[in-house]
Amino acid sequence: MTVFVSREVRLTSRPVGAPVPQNFHVVDTEVPEPTAGRIVVRNTWMSVDPYMRGRMDDGASYIEPFRIGEALEGHAIGVVVASASADIPVGATVVHFAGWREYAVLDAAEATVVDTSRPRPQDHLDALGQTGFTAYLAVTEIARIRTGDVVFVSGAAGAVGSVAGQLARRFGAARVIGSAGGPVKARVLTEEFGFDAAIDYRAGSVAEQLAVAAPDGIDVYIDNVGGDHLEAAIGALRMHGRAALIGMISGYNAAAPAPGPTNLYDIVTKHLTLRGLLVTEYADRAPAYAAAAARWLADGSLRTRQTVVDGIDNAPRAFLGMLSGANTGKMLVRL
Ligand code: NAP
Repeated sequence: MTVFVSREVRLTSRPVGAPVPQNFHVVDTEVPEPTAGRIVVRNTWMSVDPYMRGRMDDGASYIEPFRIGEALEGHAIGVVVASASADIPVGATVVHFAGWREYAVLDAAEATVVDTSRPRPQDHLDALGQTGFTAYLAVTEIARIRTGDVVFVSGAAGAVGSVAGQLARRFGAARVIGSAGGPVKARVLTEEFGFDAAIDYRAGSVAEQLAVAAPDGIDVYIDNVGGDHLEAAIGALRMHGRAALIGMISGYNAAAPAPGPTNLYDIVTKHLTLRGLLVTEYADRAPAYAAAAARWLADGSLRTRQTVVDGIDNAPRAFLGMLSGANTGKMLVRL
């Protein structure tokens, strides 16, 4: 009988404002043999995502808070090293939700076997996974990009934003503008991800820079950031413009609710549609999206970047870095 020793990241305390390393600790655990129907997975990659910040707060939301003293969770991919399930053999690569640990013990029903012959395993946590699918839904289902649209994407150098900009183009946008923090990321938008124009939001007013990049306004806004970006986009949207509200990361560390945009009356006068999205509502469509995205990655028409941090001990650092912009593309931890 093989006994695996795992390490996992637990929440020590709830962050107040921006999280700090002391909110987390890494603990050794012994992995039990799988009981009937269960598998043991050696995780090879895990995802750190902005929504996890919300789960560190106590209080009702669309997903339960993390518990103090318990392992965090989130998407991960790994290889099955022990199995008491007829459905998933040892050696299979599976995606599941028991990240933040080196070994996961799961019901086989909680794991999805994935093909790793063409996309790299970690792509299942990136363009083929929840972040890519979110971008796809924002563009096709929520904002419903049409041929000729002028599109503005915030958080455009991140995992969702970089895919959203490229998919906006694929589905008909005539001009795609992205915003990101800093001149290096702004260059990546135009040089690698095919954006027509890039705004460095740290260099000055988003509204003023957007007015230069889109002098006749925009038709669609894909919002990853909220705050000043949302206000600028509402101001720039043309009559009957549409916005897909995906996330508002500028407020995730705020200790008190951030004030809303001052120009909401524009929604009335310009007949705008602002519509929210939670990717989990569309889970049944994720496999079809992943198959299409695998083809786009393979033929080079969808490009991604990944920022990789090594080791479970550094997972909290990866998470904190992602919140403050240390990533270009998807932030991942290699375990
Ligand atoms: P990401 O963009 O890869 O990483 C987060 C990025 O946010 C950082 O790299 C940083 O980039 C930017 N950021 C942090 N603070 C900011 C601020 N104050 N103003 C502007 N930008 C800031 O993360 P992601 O996984 O792709 O997620 C992007 C957004 O989508 C988040 O809001 C997330 O909650 C949301 N999301 C929603 C769903 C859904 O179902 N609704 C699903 C997945 C993700 P810079 O260096 O450019 O500042």
